[in-house]
Amino acid sequence: MTIERITTGYYRLPLEPMGDAGHGRIDTEELITVELAADGLVGHGYAYTIGRGGRAIRSLIDHDLRPLLIGQSAHDVAALWDRMWRGLLYGGRGGLVAFAIAAVDIALWDLRGLRENRPLWALAGGTARPIPAYGSGVDLPKPLDGLLRQVEGFIQRGYSGVKVKIGKPDAAEDLARVAAVRRLVGDKIDLMIDVNMAWSIDQALDRGRRLAEYNPFWLEEPSAPEDVEGHARLVRELPMPIAVGESLYSAWEFERYIAARAAGVVQIDPVTNGGITPVLRVLRLADEAGLPTSSHYTDELSAHLLCASKNPIYLEKHAFALDPYLEQPQVVTNGTVRPTDGPGHGLRFNPEALRPYAAD
Ligand SMILES: [Mg+2]
Repeated sequence: MTIERITTGYYRLPLEPMGDAGHGRIDTEELITVELAADGLVGHGYAYTIGRGGRAIRSLIDHDLRPLLIGQSAHDVAALWDRMWRGLLYGGRGGLVAFAIAAVDIALWDLRGLRENRPLWALAGGTARPIPAYGSGVDLPKPLDGLLRQVEGFIQRGYSGVKVKIGKPDAAEDLARVAAVRRLVGDKIDLMIDVNMAWSIDQALDRGRRLAEYNPFWLEEPSAPEDVEGHARLVRELPMPIAVGESLYSAWEFERYIAARAAGVVQIDPVTNGGITPVLRVLRLADEAGLPTSSHYTDELSAHLLCASKNPIYLEKHAFALDPYLEQPQVVTNGTVRPTDGPGHGLRFNPEALRPYAAD
């Protein structure tokens, strides 16, 4: 099965303006699509950004990854991932290079599923099952009443968990928002808190202790991901679990976190983590360390991948829903999602819905 053709698309999808403490205002999602053809089958992959870098991802695939792959056998996805990673190692090891490799790797896994007529969850060694989902807002700029309305919407949709952003300059304002959300949802709903790396470790220790009375289910990305030892200290000294993963760009970065006991919840993202291939390794590492797993965005792919985890506690239903652009949006039933059962990952973009947003 020889790789014959790789085609890419680039789209700028408008978002209702939103934002968080680490990335500021976000009003555009960039979507980079990949179609990879071999022996009459076409695997589909994609990468996304939160507004910047997408053109570089497309260019990396078109100009640098394509020549490494055309004419190669599509059978051994892990070997092809390695070929891509090593081929771009000098300017890579993470960031946009990891995103570009991920988009192709996702298409290769889809192609493998089509070839073997098996869904991704089965290829991943998993058991298909419902995974609890939580409603996740990118809501730091929202006034308090808007935040509460959004959380009410999540509860009405049946989610048993909700996530809110904090990390405002005024710690008292963060506390007031978390307190108001906890009051609204009561004690039976899990409340996740996401700082998007806004704090120093000392700030995280201080503010994390003050948040404890609202019983957060986890505290996500409290500080910059480079400081592994700092996160280990937060795991040791704060009462709530520390969740990380969306800003870790390879399985080796997860390895360092897990070895240092610097994570309490491992969050996968098959785009930012460099593809499905490294994510499967991350899930094994989490299992070996006895850590629960969750996901960042990538709702449709993660529904498959979390089925290969021993303890997948939650899938994130993210504010950047791809639903308007998909042939078959993911279904939420009683606050849970299941992976699709057809071959591959099952995610197909609707070309008509994407066309108005095509860009160069
Ligand atoms: Mg986050």
